[in-house]
Amino acid sequence: MSFSYDKLLERAKSKLKVDVKRSGALRLELPEPDVIWVGNKTIFRNYAEFPKLLRRDANRLLMYLAKELATAASIEGDRAIFIGRKDKEAFLQLIQRYMKDAVICPVCGSPDTHLEREKRLWFIVCEACGARSVAKVV
Ligand SMILES: [Zn+2]
Repeated sequence: MSFSYDKLLERAKSKLKVDVKRSGALRLELPEPDVIWVGNKTIFRNYAEFPKLLRRDANRLLMYLAKELATAASIEGDRAIFIGRKDKEAFLQLIQRYMKDAVICPVCGSPDTHLEREKRLWFIVCEACGARSVAKVV
């Protein structure tokens, strides 16, 4: 039996992918959003933990949440303030969606990624498998 170099390389790569997939199975565990309502505002008290954990810009994530919730928001220290009463389930769902679209590597499932801008596109660059995937949101 003889394999061409290309075939061997392909085999080595596919083996690598499997190994990476296994290590990528280690998912991020999100903390529970600590949310209170004050008047007509929602105070997201542990907001800062989320962008830190996802290694994303706190303002970008805030803009994403505000847009999806169709409201205005601002950051005050570790907290984020949203206009209107929003519940923690809504935040959790949106943060999970953000992770899927802008954090998790679609190739291997690893959350160890960063964003890189190339011309008009943002890419999720995976530090586990090296894949570059277009981010749906940033
Ligand atoms: Zn990856």
